[in-house]
Amino acid sequence: MLERLSLRVKLVGIAALGILFVLAVGLVALSGLQTLDVTGSTAARLARAQQFHAEVLQELAELRSTVIADRETAPRSASAAAVETHITALRGLLADLGSVDLNSAPLARSVSLFSQRAIAITAAARRSEDGTALAAAAVARELASIREASARLQSDLNAGVVATGHSAQAARATARERIMLAAGLASLVLLAASHLLSMSIIRVLRRIGEAAAAVAGGHLSARAHVASQDEIGRVGQAFDDVAESLTTLLTQMESDAKRADFGRQLGEAMEMVDTEEDVLRVVERALGQIDPGAPMEMLLADSSRAHLGRAAVSPSGGAPGCGVISPYSCAAVRKGVTTTFETSDALNSCHKLRDRPGEPRSAVFVPISFMGRALGVLHATGPAGSPPAAEVRRQLTTLSRHTGTRLGTVRAFTKTELQASTDSLTGLLNRRTLENKVRELTRDRARFALAMIDLDRFKQLNDTYGHEAGDRALRLFSQVLRESVRGEDIAGRLGGEEFVVVLADCDIAGALPALERIREQLAAALASAAGPTFTVSFGVTDSTAGAELEELLRIADAGLLRAKDEGRDRIVVGTPADAAALVARAA
Ligand code: GH3
Ligand code: MG
Ligand code: MG
Repeated sequence: MLERLSLRVKLVGIAALGILFVLAVGLVALSGLQTLDVTGSTAARLARAQQFHAEVLQELAELRSTVIADRETAPRSASAAAVETHITALRGLLADLGSVDLNSAPLARSVSLFSQRAIAITAAARRSEDGTALAAAAVARELASIREASARLQSDLNAGVVATGHSAQAARATARERIMLAAGLASLVLLAASHLLSMSIIRVLRRIGEAAAAVAGGHLSARAHVASQDEIGRVGQAFDDVAESLTTLLTQMESDAKRADFGRQLGEAMEMVDTEEDVLRVVERALGQIDPGAPMEMLLADSSRAHLGRAAVSPSGGAPGCGVISPYSCAAVRKGVTTTFETSDALNSCHKLRDRPGEPRSAVFVPISFMGRALGVLHATGPAGSPPAAEVRRQLTTLSRHTGTRLGTVRAFTKTELQASTDSLTGLLNRRTLENKVRELTRDRARFALAMIDLDRFKQLNDTYGHEAGDRALRLFSQVLRESVRGEDIAGRLGGEEFVVVLADCDIAGALPALERIREQLAAALASAAGPTFTVSFGVTDSTAGAELEELLRIADAGLLRAKDEGRDRIVVGTPADAAALVARAA
């Protein structure tokens, strides 16, 4: 309840409490003063009564003297007038004495008794005109009785004065005690209230201070947890909010830095690889780093982009085992956006995910593309209802981007290289590449045989069946040539319908059967094909015949020419002499 009040309200409350207590102390003091006033006025009344009593006694004494003197002096009328004057004065004094409010029954009773005696004396005095001696005796008798009443009154008055003095003293002491008690109590309550308030403020401030020190020391989860709603409570809550924002920001920055570092390392790793195989190895290592325990894989489309196949698998997490076989069957590839499924049981989950054996699972698919063309998809799975975390998804996205770019670049580069080094019609090495490769062999002084091949009467074939048929014939022969040679051999198109084949680690003797096989396989291929048939002629030599490519080509060409001259469809070994003769003839 107190915690809901604002600090200002609490301070105002304490001030109001202080004012209330000051008022209470004032009231107590006032009541003490009033008691003193009452005591004071009682004392004053007693003093007045004593004064009137003394005056009455004086007047009585004078009356007695007048009455006694009357027996000896004349004229008696004068003394009668004096007696009357004293009686009138006495009556007035008695009225004054009776009018004093003495507030005490015994005192009032003794005043009344004294007054009755005095009145009796005045009555006796008035009668002294008729028989002075008798009256004087009566006055003397009455005076004796009033002396007793007067003594009693005097004693009561004295007792009253003493009692009033005592009660004044007691009232003063009581008033002082009450004021002290009230002031003491007020101070205690005020002190307690102030202490409670300051403790509540100090406690909260201390808690905020400790939380701030903890956060500053790196314990970002520390919070003040202040429940009070006052200004300091709001400071504590604001501190918690700031600490929360700071934690979020730092976590975000940490994950950004981690991702940036991952991206940088990935970029550097991709920079270092220039074959598709090596790109796939980098992807596998990256998958293992993103989340070592999670099953992850990369599916890539083949060159026709009709089939999707597993190309990389997390080395530690294994493959999630997606069974999709076509890029267009994959929702993520089709849409081109990252797709997450909370659980394979969901109505809208991928059916390829749902159909997998085992427990239901969650999954994420991140498509890979290059210049808008789908290349494949990265895929990871997790427990049902708990898909791979946002950070994992972000790292997969980074991996997808780098992989797409590198794969696209490597493929484009490979394609360009291939185009630059091969002949577009036949796919065999072009003249420039072929020459470079053979020059490498001659420079290394390698052992090889070299044959020039020319299609026989090809112009006639073209003229008869058309240029298209001629192209098909060239492709068919290239295919035969490619299939006939070994991996280490070199086959290329010099231009037109002329080809060269270089048989590695071979001489003329070894080359002849190999070339013969080419002839046979061409015949077999033509027999099974629908197009026109044709034959080829060979001129062959080997690396022992010359040190330079040009020289070897001239010798092989001389052999080819001789093969043409001898009727075509044959293999003829070229000689340096034939080559020299040709050169001479050309000159
Ligand atoms: P030979 O038996 O003496 O070699 O006679 P040939 O007709 O084969 O020789 P020629 O040099 O007279 O003719 C070669 C022909 O090859 C001429 C040309 O039209 C044809 N040719 C060259 N390149 C191509 C090509 O790329 N496609 C097609 N269809 N024909 C080509
Ligand atoms: Mg030719
Ligand atoms: Mg020809």
